[in-house]
Amino acid sequence: MEKFGKPYAPLLRHKHKYFSQNAEELANSKRIGAIYSAQPLRTECKNCLTSKPSDPASFTKQDLVYWFCDHCGHVNGAHDDTEAFCAQVYTGSGSVNYARNYSSEDQEAFFKRRDDIYVPKAEFLRDVLEEEGLDPMEQQYADIGAGSGYFVSALHLLGMQYVVGYDVSLQQVEHGNALLGSSALQHMTSMDLERSASTLSQNIITFIGVIEHLRRPTQFMKDLGQNPSVTHVLLSVPLMSPAVFLEVAFQDVFHRHFAGRHTHCYNEQSLTWLARESGFEECAAWWFGSDLADIYRMVYVTMLQQQQDARVIEKWSETFLPVLDEMQKVIDKKKIASEVHLVLRKRFIS
Ligand SMILES: [Zn+2]
Repeated sequence: MEKFGKPYAPLLRHKHKYFSQNAEELANSKRIGAIYSAQPLRTECKNCLTSKPSDPASFTKQDLVYWFCDHCGHVNGAHDDTEAFCAQVYTGSGSVNYARNYSSEDQEAFFKRRDDIYVPKAEFLRDVLEEEGLDPMEQQYADIGAGSGYFVSALHLLGMQYVVGYDVSLQQVEHGNALLGSSALQHMTSMDLERSASTLSQNIITFIGVIEHLRRPTQFMKDLGQNPSVTHVLLSVPLMSPAVFLEVAFQDVFHRHFAGRHTHCYNEQSLTWLARESGFEECAAWWFGSDLADIYRMVYVTMLQQQQDARVIEKWSETFLPVLDEMQKVIDKKKIASEVHLVLRKRFIS
């Protein structure tokens, strides 16, 4: 199954802060960037572990350097995302904002976000599993990096009962379980979570925007490939795309896509390498990016910074929003979009 595009309008209401709080978001991202740039230089590709080329293609944005692996095509931030970096930005003092980004105090907002963003993802997975000849209701699901349980809740809504979410933030696990009225979310230390790939007993493993945050994502995928319980993996990752070039060009706007905790970036080539090396093959893909949404936002925020006439900024919205989805779909169909949802099947399954 191949699917392209997704309407932007339902997402726009969840992204308001990126327009109205550009300065705060930018400052927070730069603060994380400063922690990242204090880490030792990366000596090998985060994906394929090949040594850094002597003169790789590279670019600089917001004072950080990124280089391309010439073996698997992966885009690597120049520094290593060390244990100290992860401890500071995920579970230490730097994690407060992270939790704020991914949870919601307000129950109504939680379920609205679930419905707009996570239910379509769950429906996609359900449809793919049906196409694979599996009954989605009978499968066992493990959602890795479940946060406060948006995706777990979306699967529940569609009728899947056997769903467990794992997260490293105890605060989010407790908050999510309270919202869901269940104990479907379980806390794991980051070390246990990284080791869990070999021991998970579920067959459907999902990561929504998670694998790029793991310290050893390739090892995690290889361990899943060796785990006899696992049959399918759903993963969603940020990709090298026009959005990254926009970030290179617009340095004074918050970089939503590839900055802060995103210290490396997949592309079609490096994802294909990862799937093959870890014993999986692609069975479905849903390509939908936010590249055009980023053009819209970056122009909007830049005009605000220039103190342009509010009526002209309004005209920008009136001009661009009606054509945004159609333009994005062209990029999605070329498979160069900023995000993909991939379902992989274990290679031994016919
Ligand atoms: Zn590589």
